[in-house]
Amino acid sequence: MASTGVDKQRNRRLSDHRGPARRALWAAAIYIAVGLVWIVFSDRLVEAWFSDADTLSLVQTWKGFLFVMVTGAVLFAATLRQFHKDRKLLALQYDQRQALRRRERQLSVLMDNLPGMAYRCRFDEHWTMLFVSQGCERLTGYLPGELVRNHKVTFAELIADPQSSEKVVEEVRKAVENREPFSIEYPLIRKDGRQIWVWERGRGVEDDDGEILLEGIILDISDRKALEDELEELATRDPLTGLYNRRESSRLLEEELERARRYNRPMALLWVDFDHFKEINDTYGHAAGDSVLRSVSKLLDDSVRSVDSVGRFGGEEFVIILPEMGVHEAHETAERIRHRVSGQLHPLNNGPAVPMTISVGVAVYPDHGSDAATLCAAADRAMYAAKSRGRNCVVMAPEVDGDHNDRKDARG
Ligand code: GH3
Ligand code: MG
Ligand code: MG
Repeated sequence: MASTGVDKQRNRRLSDHRGPARRALWAAAIYIAVGLVWIVFSDRLVEAWFSDADTLSLVQTWKGFLFVMVTGAVLFAATLRQFHKDRKLLALQYDQRQALRRRERQLSVLMDNLPGMAYRCRFDEHWTMLFVSQGCERLTGYLPGELVRNHKVTFAELIADPQSSEKVVEEVRKAVENREPFSIEYPLIRKDGRQIWVWERGRGVEDDDGEILLEGIILDISDRKALEDELEELATRDPLTGLYNRRESSRLLEEELERARRYNRPMALLWVDFDHFKEINDTYGHAAGDSVLRSVSKLLDDSVRSVDSVGRFGGEEFVIILPEMGVHEAHETAERIRHRVSGQLHPLNNGPAVPMTISVGVAVYPDHGSDAATLCAAADRAMYAAKSRGRNCVVMAPEVDGDHNDRKDARG
């Protein structure tokens, strides 16, 4: 901002034409005044000293020569000084131009070799690009000329979806208002239709007209995103069945319980254990047991709604979280799942398909517990009660005493 003020002052001074004209007028006026003074006083002086007409004429002639020689010498000195100055100025200008060209060359080499795309754009609804580096084609598939000033496509059109667009606008607006840099990640659709993930870092800058522009760099982070997704998958999924693992199931249970508490809604938990599963392993081998585990897991997952989640808690024990489900509906759902599992044969990897049954314990928030530990314990106990009743059945946890108004409201 300070340098912009200095620049404006300098430009004003350079565009002021009165300075040189005034100085030239002063020089001419001084010359005229000195000349007049010289003519008048020197004439009087020589007339006073020389009375003889011939001598006077000769002195007058020499006096004229002297005036011409002195003014010539002054003119010579003044123009010589000015020409020296001009030459120095020209040399300085030449050096500056060369240095500028060198810097521009270095900058363009640097920009063209950046791993992503450097840009300068307007902060408008199209993200109108005023400049993009050569990396634009590698990143987006579009040539810089197609993107600059929205010639063929606007940058806003490349952002994959409206939600991402809104998020980007919001984050950039906040950073510009606070005069801070921004770092954002969002999906882009390339010219060939492929979706990539990019990371953008930039900041708002004020141009000469006071308009806020954005300058920054955009990098392709698709590989990093894919790796992150893979790591997340590994951290949250059970490798054998593809269902949520114990840790993720516990997290989801806490999350759903929190939601149920906040909106005063019911929520059900099914605890599933395979019946006599050990016999499968003992008869057909561990690999065959794995095959049955995968088959039943898929069946469990296919039997619930998209809002429900099925997780493997360990061994052949599974938990199913059913948001917004009360006692009656949870019992029906558990019965339906139990019936589906027992109603079909489950293929072994290298042998015949075998039947399998499950025992299911059901606990519902808030009827059988208000926190994850109590609810899990109630569902687990109910599952063991199902085992005691002969297996292949569903048992509802016994209702806890001490009715609470909230609980009554939340029952579905
Ligand atoms: P119950 O009806 O009483 O539950 O009888 P069960 O045989 O199912 O007994 P339990 O639940 O105690 O036994 C679980 C068995 O599951 C023991 C173990 O060998 C087997 N198992 C646990 N994890 C795996 C696994 O990843 N793959 C295979 N193939 N078997 C497993
Ligand atoms: Mg079992
Ligand atoms: Mg078990």
